[in-house]
Amino acid sequence: MNTVTRPRILVVGAGFAGVECVRRLERKLSPDEADVTLVTPFAYQLYLPLLPQVASGVLTPQSIAVSLRRSKKYRTRIIPGGAIGVDLKSKVCVIRTITDEIINEPYDYIVLAPGSITRTFDIPGLTEHAFGMKTLAEAAYIRDHVISQLDLADASQDPAERAARLQFVVVGGGYAGTETAACLQKLTHAAVKRYPRIDPSLIKWHLIDIAPKLMPELGDKLGHSAQEILRRRGIDVSLGVSIEKAGPEEVTFTDGRVIPTRTLIWTAGVVASPLIATLGAETVRGRLAVTAEMTLPGQDGVFALGDSAAVPDKAKDDDSAICPPTAQHAMRQGKVVADNVIATLRGQALKPYVHKDLGLVVDLGGTDAVSKPLGIELRGLPAQFAARGYHWAALRTNVAKVRVATNWTLNAIAGDDFVRTGFQARKPAKLKDFEYTDAYLTPEQVRKQVEGTRALDQ
Ligand SMILES: Cc1cc2nc3c(=O)[nH]c(=O)nc-3n(C[C@H](O)[C@H](O)[C@H](O)COP(=O)(O)OP(=O)(O)OC[C@H]3O[C@@H](n4cnc5c(N)ncnc54)[C@H](O)[C@@H]3O)c2cc1C
Repeated sequence: MNTVTRPRILVVGAGFAGVECVRRLERKLSPDEADVTLVTPFAYQLYLPLLPQVASGVLTPQSIAVSLRRSKKYRTRIIPGGAIGVDLKSKVCVIRTITDEIINEPYDYIVLAPGSITRTFDIPGLTEHAFGMKTLAEAAYIRDHVISQLDLADASQDPAERAARLQFVVVGGGYAGTETAACLQKLTHAAVKRYPRIDPSLIKWHLIDIAPKLMPELGDKLGHSAQEILRRRGIDVSLGVSIEKAGPEEVTFTDGRVIPTRTLIWTAGVVASPLIATLGAETVRGRLAVTAEMTLPGQDGVFALGDSAAVPDKAKDDDSAICPPTAQHAMRQGKVVADNVIATLRGQALKPYVHKDLGLVVDLGGTDAVSKPLGIELRGLPAQFAARGYHWAALRTNVAKVRVATNWTLNAIAGDDFVRTGFQARKPAKLKDFEYTDAYLTPEQVRKQVEGTRALDQ
Protein backbone atom coordinates (compact mmCIF):
# COMPACT_ATOMS: atom_id res chain seq x y z
CA MET A 1 0.00 0.00 0.00
CA ASN A 2 1.15 3.51 -0.74
CA THR A 3 1.78 5.08 2.65
CA VAL A 4 3.07 8.42 1.39
CA THR A 5 0.60 10.99 0.18
CA ARG A 6 2.73 12.43 -2.60
CA PRO A 7 3.14 10.53 -5.88
CA ARG A 8 6.54 8.84 -6.15
CA ILE A 9 8.54 9.37 -9.34
CA LEU A 10 11.48 7.01 -9.74
CA VAL A 11 14.12 7.80 -12.38
CA VAL A 12 16.55 4.99 -13.24
CA GLY A 13 19.93 6.11 -14.59
CA ALA A 14 21.84 9.39 -14.26
CA GLY A 15 23.03 9.75 -17.84
CA PHE A 16 22.11 12.32 -20.45
CA ALA A 17 18.44 11.33 -20.41
CA GLY A 18 17.95 10.69 -16.68
CA VAL A 19 19.70 13.82 -15.41
CA GLU A 20 17.96 16.09 -17.89
CA CYS A 21 14.63 14.63 -16.78
CA VAL A 22 15.36 14.95 -13.05
CA ARG A 23 16.58 18.53 -13.31
CA ARG A 24 13.44 19.55 -15.20
CA LEU A 25 11.19 17.77 -12.69
CA GLU A 26 12.97 19.64 -9.88
CA ARG A 27 12.46 22.93 -11.68
CA LYS A 28 8.86 22.48 -12.73
CA LEU A 29 7.30 20.52 -9.86
CA SER A 30 6.73 22.07 -6.47
CA PRO A 31 8.20 19.94 -3.63
CA ASP A 32 4.73 18.98 -2.36
CA GLU A 33 3.52 17.85 -5.79
CA ALA A 34 5.68 14.70 -5.97
CA ASP A 35 8.76 12.97 -4.52
CA VAL A 36 11.55 12.43 -7.01
CA THR A 37 14.07 9.60 -6.51
CA LEU A 38 17.03 8.78 -8.74
CA VAL A 39 18.78 5.38 -8.84
CA THR A 40 22.35 5.55 -10.05
CA PRO A 41 25.48 3.52 -9.34
CA PHE A 42 27.70 6.59 -9.67
CA ALA A 43 27.53 10.08 -8.15
CA TYR A 44 28.09 11.75 -11.50
CA GLN A 45 26.77 12.10 -15.01
CA LEU A 46 29.37 10.83 -17.42
CA TYR A 47 29.92 12.99 -20.50
CA LEU A 48 30.54 9.98 -22.75
CA PRO A 49 31.44 11.77 -26.03
CA LEU A 50 34.66 13.01 -24.39
CA LEU A 51 35.63 9.55 -23.06
CA PRO A 52 38.25 8.91 -25.80
CA GLN A 53 40.02 12.06 -24.61
CA VAL A 54 40.22 10.60 -21.10
CA ALA A 55 41.65 7.40 -22.57
CA SER A 56 44.29 9.41 -24.37
CA GLY A 57 45.05 11.55 -21.31
CA VAL A 58 44.01 14.87 -22.84
CA LEU A 59 41.31 15.20 -20.17
CA THR A 60 41.44 14.04 -16.55
CA PRO A 61 38.68 11.56 -15.60
CA GLN A 62 37.15 14.01 -13.14
CA SER A 63 36.59 16.65 -15.81
CA ILE A 64 33.92 14.60 -17.60
CA ALA A 65 32.32 13.18 -14.44
CA VAL A 66 29.76 15.90 -13.83
CA SER A 67 28.64 16.01 -10.18
CA LEU A 68 25.01 15.23 -9.34
CA ARG A 69 25.22 17.24 -6.12
CA ARG A 70 26.81 20.45 -7.26
CA SER A 71 23.90 22.74 -6.40
CA LYS A 72 22.06 23.12 -3.10
CA LYS A 73 18.85 23.52 -5.15
CA TYR A 74 18.91 19.83 -6.09
CA ARG A 75 16.38 18.05 -3.90
CA THR A 76 16.11 14.63 -5.49
CA ARG A 77 16.72 11.61 -3.23
CA ILE A 78 19.57 9.62 -4.75
CA ILE A 79 19.82 5.87 -4.15
CA PRO A 80 23.40 4.75 -4.81
CA GLY A 81 23.03 1.49 -6.68
CA GLY A 82 21.76 -0.12 -9.85
CA ALA A 83 18.23 -1.27 -10.72
CA ILE A 84 18.41 -5.01 -11.40
CA GLY A 85 14.74 -5.63 -12.19
CA VAL A 86 11.36 -3.95 -12.52
CA ASP A 87 8.02 -5.56 -11.70
CA LEU A 88 5.51 -3.55 -13.73
CA LYS A 89 2.49 -5.26 -12.14
CA SER A 90 3.26 -4.36 -8.55
CA LYS A 91 5.14 -1.15 -9.53
CA VAL A 92 8.32 -2.08 -7.71
CA CYS A 93 11.91 -1.59 -8.84
CA VAL A 94 14.46 -4.00 -7.38
CA ILE A 95 17.77 -2.28 -6.62
CA ARG A 96 21.20 -3.59 -5.70
CA THR A 97 22.88 -0.85 -3.67
CA ILE A 98 26.60 -0.16 -3.87
CA THR A 99 26.98 -2.22 -0.69
CA ASP A 100 25.24 -5.19 -2.41
CA GLU A 101 22.03 -4.86 -0.40
CA ILE A 102 18.90 -5.76 -2.39
CA ILE A 103 16.02 -3.36 -1.82
CA ASN A 104 12.54 -3.02 -3.29
CA GLU A 105 11.65 0.54 -4.26
CA PRO A 106 7.93 1.14 -4.94
CA TYR A 107 6.94 3.85 -7.39
CA ASP A 108 3.88 5.44 -8.95
CA TYR A 109 5.75 6.67 -12.03
CA ILE A 110 8.97 5.21 -13.36
CA VAL A 111 11.31 6.78 -15.92
CA LEU A 112 13.69 4.20 -17.37
CA ALA A 113 16.94 5.75 -18.60
CA PRO A 114 19.66 3.13 -17.89
CA GLY A 115 21.32 3.68 -21.27
CA SER A 116 23.15 0.95 -23.10
CA ILE A 117 26.02 -1.49 -22.79
CA THR A 118 28.67 -2.57 -25.29
CA ARG A 119 27.22 -4.90 -27.93
CA THR A 120 29.21 -8.10 -28.22
CA PHE A 121 28.87 -11.09 -30.53
CA ASP A 122 29.55 -14.75 -30.13
CA ILE A 123 33.19 -14.40 -31.20
CA PRO A 124 35.58 -16.78 -29.42
CA GLY A 125 37.67 -14.96 -26.82
CA LEU A 126 36.01 -11.58 -27.35
CA THR A 127 34.51 -10.95 -23.91
CA GLU A 128 37.62 -12.34 -22.20
CA HIS A 129 40.19 -10.29 -24.08
CA ALA A 130 38.57 -7.09 -25.36
CA PHE A 131 38.27 -3.77 -23.57
CA GLY A 132 35.20 -1.57 -24.07
CA MET A 133 34.97 2.22 -24.20
CA LYS A 134 31.80 2.85 -22.27
CA THR A 135 32.73 3.67 -18.66
CA LEU A 136 35.13 6.05 -16.95
CA ALA A 137 36.95 3.10 -15.38
CA GLU A 138 37.47 1.53 -18.83
CA ALA A 139 38.88 4.76 -20.27
CA ALA A 140 41.28 5.15 -17.33
CA TYR A 141 42.19 1.47 -17.57
CA ILE A 142 42.90 1.66 -21.30
CA ARG A 143 45.11 4.71 -20.84
CA ASP A 144 47.21 2.88 -18.26
CA HIS A 145 47.19 -0.28 -20.38
CA VAL A 146 48.41 1.50 -23.54
CA ILE A 147 51.17 3.31 -21.66
CA SER A 148 52.16 0.07 -19.94
CA GLN A 149 52.55 -1.56 -23.38
CA LEU A 150 55.10 1.14 -24.26
CA ASP A 151 56.87 0.65 -20.92
CA LEU A 152 56.97 -3.14 -21.33
CA ALA A 153 58.02 -2.99 -24.99
CA ASP A 154 60.79 -0.58 -24.06
CA ALA A 155 62.04 -2.94 -21.35
CA SER A 156 61.71 -6.15 -23.38
CA GLN A 157 64.72 -7.84 -24.99
CA ASP A 158 62.47 -10.04 -27.15
CA PRO A 159 61.80 -8.46 -30.60
CA ALA A 160 58.59 -10.50 -31.09
CA GLU A 161 57.15 -9.38 -27.75
CA ARG A 162 58.17 -5.81 -28.48
CA ALA A 163 56.38 -5.83 -31.86
CA ALA A 164 53.25 -7.43 -30.36
CA ARG A 165 53.01 -4.92 -27.53
CA LEU A 166 53.25 -2.05 -30.02
CA GLN A 167 50.30 -3.18 -32.17
CA PHE A 168 46.83 -2.00 -31.18
CA VAL A 169 43.48 -3.04 -32.61
CA VAL A 170 40.26 -1.01 -32.39
CA VAL A 171 37.06 -2.58 -33.72
CA GLY A 172 34.19 -0.24 -34.68
CA GLY A 173 34.26 2.53 -37.27
CA GLY A 174 31.51 4.62 -35.66
CA TYR A 175 32.40 7.88 -33.90
CA ALA A 176 33.33 6.10 -30.64
CA GLY A 177 35.83 3.72 -32.28
CA THR A 178 37.22 6.25 -34.75
CA GLU A 179 37.80 8.88 -32.06
CA THR A 180 39.31 6.28 -29.74
CA ALA A 181 41.77 5.01 -32.37
CA ALA A 182 42.67 8.56 -33.44
CA CYS A 183 43.16 9.94 -29.92
CA LEU A 184 45.15 6.95 -28.67
CA GLN A 185 47.33 6.84 -31.79
CA LYS A 186 48.16 10.48 -31.15
CA LEU A 187 49.11 9.60 -27.58
CA THR A 188 51.45 6.74 -28.59
CA HIS A 189 52.93 8.84 -31.41
CA ALA A 190 53.79 11.62 -28.95
CA ALA A 191 54.88 9.23 -26.19
CA VAL A 192 57.32 7.23 -28.29
CA LYS A 193 59.66 10.21 -28.47
CA ARG A 194 60.27 9.62 -24.74
CA TYR A 195 61.18 5.97 -25.32
CA PRO A 196 64.54 6.07 -27.12
CA ARG A 197 64.77 2.25 -27.27
CA ILE A 198 61.52 1.90 -29.25
CA ASP A 199 61.56 2.10 -33.05
CA PRO A 200 58.53 4.37 -33.83
CA SER A 201 57.79 2.42 -37.02
CA LEU A 202 56.88 -0.61 -34.86
CA ILE A 203 53.83 1.21 -33.46
CA LYS A 204 50.81 0.16 -35.50
CA TRP A 205 47.18 1.02 -34.98
CA HIS A 206 44.47 -0.94 -36.78
CA LEU A 207 40.89 0.32 -37.05
CA ILE A 208 38.51 -2.25 -38.51
CA ASP A 209 34.79 -2.38 -39.20
CA ILE A 210 32.56 -4.88 -40.93
CA ALA A 211 30.69 -1.98 -42.64
CA PRO A 212 31.97 -0.65 -45.98
CA LYS A 213 32.31 2.94 -44.68
CA LEU A 214 33.53 4.78 -41.60
CA MET A 215 30.85 6.83 -39.82
CA PRO A 216 28.28 6.67 -42.66
CA GLU A 217 26.28 9.47 -40.93
CA LEU A 218 28.97 11.91 -42.14
CA GLY A 219 28.23 11.24 -45.80
CA ASP A 220 30.69 10.03 -48.43
CA LYS A 221 32.94 13.10 -48.78
CA LEU A 222 33.45 13.78 -45.07
CA GLY A 223 33.75 10.07 -44.27
CA HIS A 224 36.48 9.86 -46.89
CA SER A 225 38.24 12.90 -45.35
CA ALA A 226 38.20 11.21 -41.93
CA GLN A 227 39.67 8.07 -43.46
CA GLU A 228 42.40 10.12 -45.17
CA ILE A 229 43.34 11.83 -41.90
CA LEU A 230 43.65 8.44 -40.20
CA ARG A 231 45.70 6.95 -43.04
CA ARG A 232 48.00 10.00 -43.05
CA ARG A 233 48.59 9.43 -39.35
CA GLY A 234 49.54 5.81 -40.03
CA ILE A 235 46.34 4.16 -38.78
CA ASP A 236 45.57 1.10 -40.88
CA VAL A 237 41.84 1.27 -41.68
CA SER A 238 40.27 -2.01 -42.88
CA LEU A 239 36.61 -1.98 -43.89
CA GLY A 240 34.44 -5.05 -44.48
CA VAL A 241 36.54 -6.82 -41.85
CA SER A 242 35.76 -8.05 -38.33
CA ILE A 243 37.29 -10.32 -35.70
CA GLU A 244 37.20 -14.09 -36.08
CA LYS A 245 38.74 -14.84 -32.70
CA ALA A 246 40.65 -13.12 -29.95
CA GLY A 247 43.32 -14.50 -27.66
CA PRO A 248 45.55 -13.06 -24.94
CA GLU A 249 48.40 -12.45 -27.38
CA GLU A 250 46.84 -12.24 -30.83
CA VAL A 251 43.71 -11.32 -32.74
CA THR A 252 42.56 -13.05 -35.93
CA PHE A 253 40.72 -10.91 -38.48
CA THR A 254 38.01 -12.34 -40.75
CA ASP A 255 40.26 -11.64 -43.76
CA GLY A 256 42.73 -14.18 -42.36
CA ARG A 257 45.32 -11.79 -40.93
CA VAL A 258 46.65 -12.69 -37.49
CA ILE A 259 47.80 -9.65 -35.52
CA PRO A 260 50.08 -10.26 -32.54
CA THR A 261 48.77 -7.76 -29.96
CA ARG A 262 47.90 -7.33 -26.29
CA THR A 263 45.34 -4.59 -26.99
CA LEU A 264 41.91 -5.16 -28.47
CA ILE A 265 39.41 -2.31 -28.00
CA TRP A 266 35.87 -3.24 -28.94
CA THR A 267 33.46 -0.39 -29.78
CA ALA A 268 31.23 -2.14 -32.33
CA GLY A 269 27.92 -0.67 -31.23
CA VAL A 270 25.67 -0.75 -28.19
CA VAL A 271 22.59 -2.61 -27.01
CA ALA A 272 20.00 -1.50 -24.46
CA SER A 273 20.78 -2.07 -20.78
CA PRO A 274 19.92 -5.62 -19.62
CA LEU A 275 17.43 -3.96 -17.24
CA ILE A 276 15.01 -3.66 -20.15
CA ALA A 277 14.77 -7.46 -20.54
CA THR A 278 13.68 -7.82 -16.88
CA LEU A 279 10.39 -6.07 -17.73
CA GLY A 280 9.25 -8.84 -20.07
CA ALA A 281 7.82 -6.15 -22.39
CA GLU A 282 8.02 -5.71 -26.18
CA THR A 283 11.35 -4.54 -27.55
CA VAL A 284 12.70 -3.33 -30.90
CA ARG A 285 16.24 -4.64 -31.41
CA GLY A 286 16.56 -4.90 -27.61
CA ARG A 287 15.34 -1.35 -26.92
CA LEU A 288 12.02 -0.95 -25.09
CA ALA A 289 9.20 -0.28 -27.57
CA VAL A 290 7.60 3.01 -26.51
CA THR A 291 5.23 5.53 -28.05
CA ALA A 292 6.31 8.91 -29.42
CA GLU A 293 5.34 10.29 -25.98
CA MET A 294 7.86 7.77 -24.55
CA THR A 295 5.23 5.85 -22.57
CA LEU A 296 5.04 2.07 -22.44
CA PRO A 297 1.79 0.96 -24.16
CA GLY A 298 -0.66 -0.78 -21.84
CA GLN A 299 1.17 0.28 -18.66
CA ASP A 300 0.30 3.16 -16.39
CA GLY A 301 3.07 5.58 -15.45
CA VAL A 302 5.96 3.87 -17.26
CA PHE A 303 8.26 6.02 -19.40
CA ALA A 304 11.49 5.07 -21.17
CA LEU A 305 13.98 7.05 -23.25
CA GLY A 306 17.56 7.41 -24.38
CA ASP A 307 19.69 4.49 -25.57
CA SER A 308 17.48 1.96 -23.74
CA ALA A 309 14.26 2.85 -25.58
CA ALA A 310 13.12 2.64 -29.20
CA VAL A 311 11.58 6.10 -29.46
CA PRO A 312 9.86 6.71 -32.83
CA ASP A 313 11.75 9.31 -34.86
CA LYS A 314 8.91 11.65 -35.82
CA ALA A 315 11.29 14.00 -37.66
CA LYS A 316 11.69 11.35 -40.37
CA ASP A 317 9.11 10.44 -43.03
CA ASP A 318 9.66 6.72 -42.46
CA ASP A 319 7.05 5.54 -39.89
CA SER A 320 9.29 2.71 -38.69
CA ALA A 321 12.30 4.98 -37.98
CA ILE A 322 13.55 5.09 -34.39
CA CYS A 323 15.88 7.68 -32.87
CA PRO A 324 19.56 6.69 -33.02
CA PRO A 325 21.30 6.13 -29.68
CA THR A 326 22.94 9.52 -29.29
CA ALA A 327 23.39 12.01 -26.48
CA GLN A 328 21.76 14.61 -28.70
CA HIS A 329 18.46 12.70 -28.60
CA ALA A 330 18.78 11.42 -25.01
CA MET A 331 19.11 14.95 -23.55
CA ARG A 332 16.16 16.31 -25.47
CA GLN A 333 14.03 13.27 -24.71
CA GLY A 334 14.79 13.82 -21.00
CA LYS A 335 13.09 17.21 -21.12
CA VAL A 336 10.02 15.93 -22.97
CA VAL A 337 9.64 12.94 -20.63
CA ALA A 338 9.77 15.24 -17.60
CA ASP A 339 7.02 17.37 -19.17
CA ASN A 340 4.98 14.25 -19.91
CA VAL A 341 5.34 12.91 -16.36
CA ILE A 342 4.14 16.28 -15.07
CA ALA A 343 1.30 16.34 -17.60
CA THR A 344 0.23 12.85 -16.44
CA LEU A 345 0.28 13.99 -12.80
CA ARG A 346 -1.81 17.03 -13.63
CA GLY A 347 -4.19 15.22 -15.98
CA GLN A 348 -3.00 17.14 -19.05
CA ALA A 349 -2.26 15.98 -22.60
CA LEU A 350 1.17 14.45 -23.34
CA LYS A 351 3.34 15.68 -26.19
CA PRO A 352 5.30 13.57 -28.67
CA TYR A 353 9.08 13.79 -29.00
CA VAL A 354 10.18 15.41 -32.26
CA HIS A 355 13.77 16.48 -32.93
CA LYS A 356 15.60 16.93 -36.21
CA ASP A 357 19.15 15.66 -35.96
CA LEU A 358 21.69 18.51 -35.69
CA GLY A 359 24.53 16.48 -37.20
CA LEU A 360 27.75 15.01 -35.93
CA VAL A 361 31.09 16.30 -34.63
CA VAL A 362 34.18 14.07 -34.61
CA ASP A 363 37.33 15.07 -32.74
CA LEU A 364 40.33 13.16 -34.06
CA GLY A 365 42.81 14.81 -31.68
CA GLY A 366 45.00 17.90 -32.07
CA THR A 367 43.76 20.01 -34.97
CA ASP A 368 42.28 17.02 -36.80
CA ALA A 369 38.50 16.84 -36.91
CA VAL A 370 35.54 16.42 -39.22
CA SER A 371 32.12 17.82 -38.37
CA LYS A 372 28.75 18.20 -40.00
CA PRO A 373 26.71 20.61 -37.88
CA LEU A 374 23.32 21.38 -39.48
CA GLY A 375 24.47 19.70 -42.71
CA ILE A 376 27.53 21.98 -43.16
CA GLU A 377 30.67 19.97 -43.90
CA LEU A 378 33.72 21.13 -41.94
CA ARG A 379 37.30 19.86 -41.79
CA GLY A 380 40.42 20.74 -39.79
CA LEU A 381 40.37 23.67 -37.35
CA PRO A 382 36.79 24.88 -38.10
CA ALA A 383 35.58 21.31 -37.53
CA GLN A 384 37.59 21.13 -34.32
CA PHE A 385 36.09 24.42 -33.07
CA ALA A 386 32.62 23.07 -33.86
CA ALA A 387 33.36 19.75 -32.10
CA ARG A 388 34.90 21.19 -28.97
CA GLY A 389 32.52 24.17 -28.86
CA TYR A 390 29.52 21.83 -29.06
CA HIS A 391 30.76 19.52 -26.30
CA TRP A 392 31.91 22.38 -24.10
CA ALA A 393 28.51 24.07 -24.32
CA ALA A 394 26.73 20.77 -23.60
CA LEU A 395 28.59 20.14 -20.32
CA ARG A 396 26.09 20.68 -17.53
CA THR A 397 28.05 22.60 -14.90
CA ASN A 398 30.37 25.59 -15.03
CA VAL A 399 32.99 23.74 -13.01
CA ALA A 400 33.03 20.93 -15.61
CA LYS A 401 33.35 23.55 -18.36
CA VAL A 402 36.33 25.15 -16.61
CA ARG A 403 38.01 21.78 -16.00
CA VAL A 404 37.62 20.70 -19.63
CA ALA A 405 38.75 24.06 -21.06
CA THR A 406 41.75 24.10 -18.72
CA ASN A 407 42.73 20.55 -19.71
CA TRP A 408 42.46 21.38 -23.42
CA THR A 409 44.56 24.53 -22.96
CA LEU A 410 47.17 22.68 -20.92
CA ASN A 411 47.34 19.92 -23.51
CA ALA A 412 47.70 22.43 -26.35
CA ILE A 413 50.56 24.21 -24.54
CA ALA A 414 52.37 21.41 -22.71
CA GLY A 415 51.55 18.47 -24.98
CA ASP A 416 50.52 14.97 -23.97
CA ASP A 417 51.20 13.46 -20.61
CA PHE A 418 52.29 9.84 -20.23
CA VAL A 419 51.63 8.99 -16.62
CA ARG A 420 50.58 5.41 -15.89
CA THR A 421 48.75 5.67 -12.58
CA GLY A 422 48.58 1.95 -11.80
CA PHE A 423 45.36 2.45 -9.78
CA GLN A 424 43.64 -0.41 -11.54
CA ALA A 425 46.61 -2.68 -12.10
CA ARG A 426 45.86 -6.39 -11.61
CA LYS A 427 42.11 -5.76 -11.35
CA PRO A 428 39.77 -7.85 -13.59
CA ALA A 429 39.41 -6.04 -16.89
CA LYS A 430 36.69 -7.91 -18.75
CA LEU A 431 33.74 -6.17 -20.35
CA LYS A 432 31.28 -7.51 -17.75
CA ASP A 433 33.45 -6.32 -14.86
CA PHE A 434 33.22 -2.74 -16.05
CA GLU A 435 29.59 -2.78 -17.17
CA TYR A 436 28.08 -5.09 -14.48
CA THR A 437 26.18 -7.00 -17.17
CA ASP A 438 25.79 -10.10 -15.00
CA ALA A 439 24.03 -8.26 -12.14
CA TYR A 440 20.47 -8.44 -13.51
CA LEU A 441 17.55 -10.68 -12.55
CA THR A 442 15.26 -12.61 -14.89
CA PRO A 443 11.57 -11.53 -14.95
CA GLU A 444 10.76 -14.60 -12.76
CA GLN A 445 13.46 -13.69 -10.23
CA VAL A 446 12.11 -10.12 -10.09
CA ARG A 447 8.60 -11.43 -9.33
CA LYS A 448 9.95 -13.80 -6.66
CA GLN A 449 12.01 -11.03 -5.04
CA VAL A 450 8.99 -8.67 -4.95
CA GLU A 451 6.51 -11.32 -3.76
CA GLY A 452 8.96 -12.75 -1.19
CA THR A 453 9.48 -9.33 0.41
CA ARG A 454 5.74 -8.63 0.38
CA ALA A 455 5.03 -11.94 2.17
CA LEU A 456 7.60 -11.08 4.86
CA ASP A 457 5.99 -7.65 5.34
CA GLN A 458 2.53 -9.14 6.01
C1 LIG B 1 32.88 6.80 -26.65
C2 LIG B 1 31.52 7.37 -26.97
C3 LIG B 1 31.42 8.53 -27.73
C4 LIG B 1 30.17 9.08 -28.02
N1 LIG B 1 30.09 10.23 -28.75
C5 LIG B 1 28.89 10.80 -28.99
C6 LIG B 1 28.78 12.03 -29.69
O1 LIG B 1 29.78 12.60 -30.12
N2 LIG B 1 27.53 12.56 -29.87
C7 LIG B 1 26.40 11.96 -29.39
O2 LIG B 1 25.30 12.50 -29.56
N3 LIG B 1 26.47 10.79 -28.74
C8 LIG B 1 27.68 10.20 -28.52
N4 LIG B 1 27.75 9.00 -27.86
C9 LIG B 1 26.51 8.32 -27.48
C10 LIG B 1 25.92 8.92 -26.21
O3 LIG B 1 26.89 9.03 -25.22
C11 LIG B 1 24.74 8.09 -25.74
O4 LIG B 1 23.80 7.97 -26.77
C12 LIG B 1 24.07 8.74 -24.52
O5 LIG B 1 24.98 8.70 -23.44
C13 LIG B 1 22.77 8.04 -24.16
O6 LIG B 1 22.22 8.65 -23.05
P1 LIG B 1 21.42 7.80 -21.97
O7 LIG B 1 21.01 8.75 -20.92
O8 LIG B 1 20.41 6.96 -22.63
O9 LIG B 1 22.51 6.79 -21.41
P2 LIG B 1 23.87 7.14 -20.58
O10 LIG B 1 24.30 8.53 -20.81
O11 LIG B 1 24.78 6.04 -20.91
O12 LIG B 1 23.36 7.02 -19.11
C14 LIG B 1 22.90 5.86 -18.53
C15 LIG B 1 23.10 5.98 -17.05
O13 LIG B 1 22.42 4.92 -16.40
C16 LIG B 1 23.29 4.32 -15.46
N5 LIG B 1 22.85 2.94 -15.35
C17 LIG B 1 23.13 1.91 -16.16
N6 LIG B 1 22.50 0.81 -15.73
C18 LIG B 1 21.81 1.17 -14.64
C19 LIG B 1 20.96 0.47 -13.75
N7 LIG B 1 20.71 -0.81 -13.92
N8 LIG B 1 20.42 1.14 -12.71
C20 LIG B 1 20.66 2.47 -12.54
N9 LIG B 1 21.47 3.18 -13.35
C21 LIG B 1 22.01 2.53 -14.39
C22 LIG B 1 24.67 4.50 -16.04
O14 LIG B 1 25.65 4.43 -15.01
C23 LIG B 1 24.56 5.88 -16.64
O15 LIG B 1 24.80 6.86 -15.66
C24 LIG B 1 29.00 8.44 -27.55
C25 LIG B 1 29.11 7.27 -26.80
C26 LIG B 1 30.34 6.74 -26.51
C27 LIG B 1 30.44 5.49 -25.69
